[in-house]
Amino acid sequence: MGGEEKHIAVDFNRLIENHLFRENRPKTIGRYYPSEIGSCLRKVWYSYLQPRPTEMDLIKVFEVGNILHDFIAEVMRSEKNPHIQLISSEYPFKLELQDFIISGRIDDLLLVKESNKTFLVEVKSTASLAYTDSPKMSHMMQLQLYMHVLKYHDGFVLYVEKNTLKCKAFEVAYDERIAAEALNRFTKLNRFLKDKVMPPPESRLKTEMSWMCRNCEWRADCWAATPDSALPPLKEKINGF
Ligand code: SF4
Repeated sequence: MGGEEKHIAVDFNRLIENHLFRENRPKTIGRYYPSEIGSCLRKVWYSYLQPRPTEMDLIKVFEVGNILHDFIAEVMRSEKNPHIQLISSEYPFKLELQDFIISGRIDDLLLVKESNKTFLVEVKSTASLAYTDSPKMSHMMQLQLYMHVLKYHDGFVLYVEKNTLKCKAFEVAYDERIAAEALNRFTKLNRFLKDKVMPPPESRLKTEMSWMCRNCEWRADCWAATPDSALPPLKEKINGF
């Protein structure tokens, strides 16, 4: 049998891909999702007006995030941690504003109780904790919005390293000003979409957000619409965050 290639009857990659595959449903202007708040406004704008299927590699990365979220929920639920109580790990979210609605299931949040204190934990998976010295502004913004709507005013952004399960947590107190800014971002998004005006390429303008461009499905369109030569230097604030 020397030299003959063995036929593998089961393609496990294909099984995973079949399992994870989902049709992208078209989005409706005026109905937004809480998880969009920290994303580059231009990217969210594209997702409404020029929808593209999410690449399978990215869907897999999101799934690893879901798996880690479930694991942390299990840790909080564990009878080996009797001082911590998991109250909820699933949140329907709905906020109706004057001319738009923000709704959807929040899938990265836990509600936890320790002694008499109840707090929200926003779980984020990361490839490395090495440079995680503070929570990302986009994650803070998301948590502030959740705190505002769900009326819990203590929370943590929790980063979990994928390869090691090591954690770094940052305590966050409710800040009405940041929550108002978060809501204001939806107002801006709604305006840009209704007027069909493309927002500035936020992530290319702010160092803090530049990581979002790496996996952006609209990279080529974004550069074609706004070449680097047309941009002010990185870091300059344009929308206020
Ligand atoms: S490439 Fe970057 S700046 Fe452009 S839409 Fe995507 S995330 Fe935003």
